[in-house]
Amino acid sequence: MEYETIIGMEIHAQLATRTKVFCSCSTEFGASPNVHVCPVCLGMPGVLPVLNEEVVNLAIRGALALRATIQGMSRFARKSYFYPDLPKGYQISQYEESFATDGYVMIDSQRKRKKIRVKRMNLEEDAGKSIHEASTTLVDFNRCGIPLFEIVTMPDLNSPEEAVAYLRTVRRQLQYAGVSSCDMEKGHFRCEPNVSVRPARSDKLGTRTELKNLNSLKAVERGLRFEIKRQIGLLKEGKHVVQQTLLWDEKEQKAAPMRSKEEAEDYRYFIEPDLVPLIVDTPWIEKVKLDMPELPDERAERFVKEYSIRPYDAQVLTSTRELADYYEKTIGLHRDPIGLANWISTEVLGYMNEKGITIAELKARPEHLAELFDLIADGSINKKMAKEIFVEMALQGVGAKVIVSEKGLRQVTDEKELEEMILRVLSDNPNEVERYYGGKEALFGFFVGQVMKASRGKANPKLVNEILRRQLDIQRRK
Ligand code: ZN
Ligand code: MN
Repeated sequence: MEYETIIGMEIHAQLATRTKVFCSCSTEFGASPNVHVCPVCLGMPGVLPVLNEEVVNLAIRGALALRATIQGMSRFARKSYFYPDLPKGYQISQYEESFATDGYVMIDSQRKRKKIRVKRMNLEEDAGKSIHEASTTLVDFNRCGIPLFEIVTMPDLNSPEEAVAYLRTVRRQLQYAGVSSCDMEKGHFRCEPNVSVRPARSDKLGTRTELKNLNSLKAVERGLRFEIKRQIGLLKEGKHVVQQTLLWDEKEQKAAPMRSKEEAEDYRYFIEPDLVPLIVDTPWIEKVKLDMPELPDERAERFVKEYSIRPYDAQVLTSTRELADYYEKTIGLHRDPIGLANWISTEVLGYMNEKGITIAELKARPEHLAELFDLIADGSINKKMAKEIFVEMALQGVGAKVIVSEKGLRQVTDEKELEEMILRVLSDNPNEVERYYGGKEALFGFFVGQVMKASRGKANPKLVNEILRRQLDIQRRK
């Protein structure tokens, strides 16, 4: 029997404010435990929360980035539960009256374009952190009251690949719009997928489980794959899936039950009496819209139209705002959009991956790369030399011309000089020459390779091809 997978996703993205959502404590990451706390975020009796306006500004941006409808009025609600790292005994969240609803993103997965609907977006506060040590548990309340943007999808995802594509897309949209750093390692972008399986073409939903503790996109993919396999295994044996929350163990590569899943009733939601309803009117939204940047999906589409590059490359080049800016700045200095798209997605990203750096940290700036392309275009250097020069540019942070003169890296374009090299290669390889005349024409490439090697990569390949062909013809006639 075939099975179908249905995945819904809940994301918590940390809004990039300097201070917390209901008090003025710092949101600094990595501070000593319990230094960014005050009576409000510690939930002392008698204190009152005050909503941080910047949180709302960023949430408006986030809702616009996911093309959602911002509700004119939303309300905060108390979600009660007891946990050592939640000193108030409840989390201020939103429940029936969400901040925004009905958004969507378009994802590209396995060569298919698909619309994933976003059901709602809520504002809420984070809890603290329990640190489990050998014989004791400690709590750090620095994270209490950090503003979170909760994003819940409709169950539109049907595979781990789609789930990952969705997360990448949402992350890119939020980062572009400056809503969140979405740094997964710092816990600024967390996701909890829920997953169920059912026999293909059935219209009844299966029992779902929720996965927690997925700290990277790889973990999301592996965790989901594990859980889907487990559920299908149960159904095949005629057993039932139990609704529960599972904790992914990246080391063991398996998920273990954490607790049975709470239902909404368990949280005893009620409207937060200490906060007035949040009113976001049209002028406020319009004001935020004014300084929204071009969103990455729009930008990728424009790249394809304006620069005639492949959609895949456009996706890669718009993966971060900084990379897309880098590309466009370089085109502005040397107009070769296709050549530069190829170069950036292979050489530039390859170098960045190898060194583990970001585009902001890359020392080869757009003006340096444009200069390199000028030199290729005027025939001073070939592509092979350019690769070597690029690495030097990236190490030293200087332009291509400096490296060329420093290393004496000029392309050999002198026909006499090239002819001498070619004649030497031919006389050094008499057997290959004979076999070439005997019909083994593929050896032409071998001769070119030998000449390039003899020139230590500096020969102009186009001229080598021309002169070599001419010389082989002359010698044949002899
Ligand atoms: Zn505080
Ligand atoms: Mn939440």
